[in-house]
Amino acid sequence: AKVADHAKIQRYTVELGEAEKERRRLEEELRVAIAAGELTLHYQPQFRLPHQQLSGCEALVRWHNPRRGLISPATFIPLAEESALIVDLGYWVMERACRQALEWDFVGRNLGMSVNVSAHQFEQPDFVERVRTILHTTGFPGEHLILELTESLVLRDISQAQRHVNDLHTHAIRIAIDDFGTGYSSLNMLAQLPFEHLKIDRSFVRDLTAQEAYAEPSRARVLMRGITGLAHSLQLKVIAEGVETDEQLSLLQELGCDKVQGYLLGRPVPPEEAAVWLERVQA
Ligand code: C2E
Ligand code: CA
Ligand code: CA
Ligand code: CA
Repeated sequence: AKVADHAKIQRYTVELGEAEKERRRLEEELRVAIAAGELTLHYQPQFRLPHQQLSGCEALVRWHNPRRGLISPATFIPLAEESALIVDLGYWVMERACRQALEWDFVGRNLGMSVNVSAHQFEQPDFVERVRTILHTTGFPGEHLILELTESLVLRDISQAQRHVNDLHTHAIRIAIDDFGTGYSSLNMLAQLPFEHLKIDRSFVRDLTAQEAYAEPSRARVLMRGITGLAHSLQLKVIAEGVETDEQLSLLQELGCDKVQGYLLGRPVPPEEAAVWLERVQA
């Protein structure tokens, strides 16, 4: 048995080495990709309830690799997060999104551009300084920028997070807690940081109408009503992501959700296809 175990360990080590090499290769390619302009942004609309007026959109990064094809951010964002790459990538996205929003007259139309911010990026001491530089060089007003932070990140250094949030607020930049409900200390964070939006994770939206035997949609609904009530008493707006069906949409409306985003109302699209929903401002 000993001999067999040894052989197994050796094989794992070789496989691990391969995976690690592949990871590094991808990371190196991503580094080049940022410089070579292989990254683009898609935009997904967000709507205010109950009348479904357009309230803005979320910028979502895409990587078109000439050799590998389209690579999902679910694959390369975690990779970028393991290195300093995510910082450059994050500012690249923010600047690109601000320019696009100006071009689409988000100011005149009173729309908001939401941009994702990673833990590593938010933790940089000069984070707010860099954001301010982007607003300054693009001329995009902070009132129309919403930063989506995932909840696990903000807790690592609460006092720096508080400073950053306060500084962002002096520029009228709003903050959304992304993937709310999936982190480990949501309530603690709600208590300590003043945000504007709470973004309910897709998994909760799915559970509202889940058909699986294990699921209990009625509990999910009670939970959702509780969360929206809590959020509203803290003056937060609630936005739900991943809305795919009419049933989910009407439930969310009934449960007090303020805004929605999801395939039902619009998938993320390249800028040249955004005209479809950009015209729905007055709907
Ligand atoms: P996220 O911030 O939670 O973004 C929502 C994801 O859900 C997006 O996937 C979006 O395309 C997808 N989605 C939207 N509506 C629906 C729906 O109705 N049904 C389903 N099944 N999915 C829906 P995407 O674009 O693949 O992005 C995945 C994740 O990658 C994002 O999750 C975010 O964490 C990260 N990401 C994307 N772009 C950026 C970026 O520029 N910076 C950073 N730091 N992270 C990014
Ligand atoms: Ca997001
Ligand atoms: Ca999200
Ligand atoms: Ca999510």
